[in-house]
Amino acid sequence: MDSCIFCKIIAGEIPSVKIYEDDLVYAFMDIAPINKGHVLVIPKKHNESSSTIDEATAGRMFKVGSQIGIALRRECDYDAFNLHLADGTAAGQVVNHAHLHVVPRGVEDGFYWNWRQLKYEDGEAAEIAEKIKARLAKKL
Ligand code: 5GP
Ligand code: ZN
Repeated sequence: MDSCIFCKIIAGEIPSVKIYEDDLVYAFMDIAPINKGHVLVIPKKHNESSSTIDEATAGRMFKVGSQIGIALRRECDYDAFNLHLADGTAAGQVVNHAHLHVVPRGVEDGFYWNWRQLKYEDGEAAEIAEKIKARLAKKL
């Protein structure tokens, strides 16, 4: 896709610090890391949404991302890592080429997910679950 910065990175038209590349995915250092060592793993084929990435590529993204997370733990003294993917603007997606964040984490790194815990009304979770299941039955 001509106007996509991540497609340009894959093509070498915009420089990047590359970590890994194969037939399906490309991994490189995030320019503005949450912690130093933050990596992005992207499909080589332009997909805006994670939902359109083919299964082999999605699997490879997850595998490569988790191996990079392990490398960050073993070689860069981190304790853990988050894999994060924002799908859609409301979820925080800024670059419209799907990407998996590998965020290295330390026990006292000072970064906190703003993770709240709502409560369901009676039957509400089951009602939502039925809607999800009905759609999955059509799609998967
Ligand atoms: P999003 O918010 O869409 O999930 O994440 C986009 C990520 O891409 C951000 O973490 C941002 O720092 C990174 N990013 C944006 N532009 C560039 C770039 O030109 N080069 C690199 N290496 N990372 C970028
Ligand atoms: Zn792209």
